[in-house]
Amino acid sequence: ALGLAACGGGGAGAGGGSTEGAGGGADPSDITIGVAMPTETSERWIADGKAVKQGLEDLGYKVNLQYAGDDIPTQTQQIDQMITSGADVLIIASIDGTALTSQLESAAAQNIPVIAYDRLIRDSENVDFYVTFDNFAVGVAQGTALLQGMGLIDASGVAVQGVQGPLNIELFAGSPDDNNAGFFFDGAMSVLQPYIDNGTLVVKSGQTDFDTVATLRWSQEAAQKRMEDLLTSTYSDGSTLSGVLSPFDGISRGIITALQGVGQGPTIEAGLPIVTGQDAEIASVKLINDGVQSSTIFKDTRKLADQSVKVAEAFVKGEKPEANDTETYDNGKKVVPSYLLTVDTVFAEDIVPLLVDSGYWTEAQVQSGV
Ligand code: BGC
Repeated sequence: ALGLAACGGGGAGAGGGSTEGAGGGADPSDITIGVAMPTETSERWIADGKAVKQGLEDLGYKVNLQYAGDDIPTQTQQIDQMITSGADVLIIASIDGTALTSQLESAAAQNIPVIAYDRLIRDSENVDFYVTFDNFAVGVAQGTALLQGMGLIDASGVAVQGVQGPLNIELFAGSPDDNNAGFFFDGAMSVLQPYIDNGTLVVKSGQTDFDTVATLRWSQEAAQKRMEDLLTSTYSDGSTLSGVLSPFDGISRGIITALQGVGQGPTIEAGLPIVTGQDAEIASVKLINDGVQSSTIFKDTRKLADQSVKVAEAFVKGEKPEANDTETYDNGKKVVPSYLLTVDTVFAEDIVPLLVDSGYWTEAQVQSGV
């Protein structure tokens, strides 16, 4: 690994067999960046991996990109292998944010800077930087989109008068081992709680705490099953469910399948409850276009990939990466300097301006859903 100046290497021990001294002068092709991604079952991570690899290769670096199939032992093995085969910098989107402590110790022992990608790595001193989206703001956007979808507020956030309440909602959160999931849920609840407190919204099942509503590994199947159970336990008396807070498009599709399975919808116009989402996955973008899913949150993974490439390059050159947040992300051992990106909410009318015009998806993909 590099004896990186930013990590106190101060010029000694160039990596990959180079004889040129510190990272700054090293031949880029002597530098290898290990990129650990969680899963290929959600297309956002495929796009992330591709874009990070491309960006790093454009700078001349070698890239060791691995996907772990959402399996923690696989991810720890992949990272061990990256370290033993001489990675100079690691970019890691973790599956379980607390499971990498020993890998990070060996990285630190070899002066390999570690960049947490999208998800914070917890309980370790050895996390050098965090690139992500503003996760609390994602949750705020989801809660706001739920209110807007249900017609309680308009597009500029102003309360709509004369809505008949109370309206029943249900809540879903993401994977409890993913640090982001709590941020999303807290952000959403910061918007929804006042409406619950004043009786406008009712979580009819009574299931409101994070651990109860969390969805391990963000599983679509688990979400579908929980929604089916909720429909049986809470709504078989004929009461109306108006909206469901969903933190991720895969979960949203599980929820929608369950709702349609009991004859609701099939579209919002035909009475399907309002369901939120995240990631602008193409299958969900199609559902939004078709009036089935109400909204999603677009995280432009190209921007996150670019930012992570800039951070990796700074480490290689022995420079300090630019942070825009040095307060929020305490991982239990330290506050990790972070760079946070902004997100956009997508309703049907936003698909073309935000997703098609920017080249994220083509019009044909929006139509076909693949
Ligand atoms: C990411 C989300 C994604 C989720 C499931 C989270 O860590 O921030 O964008 O929806 O994981 O993959």
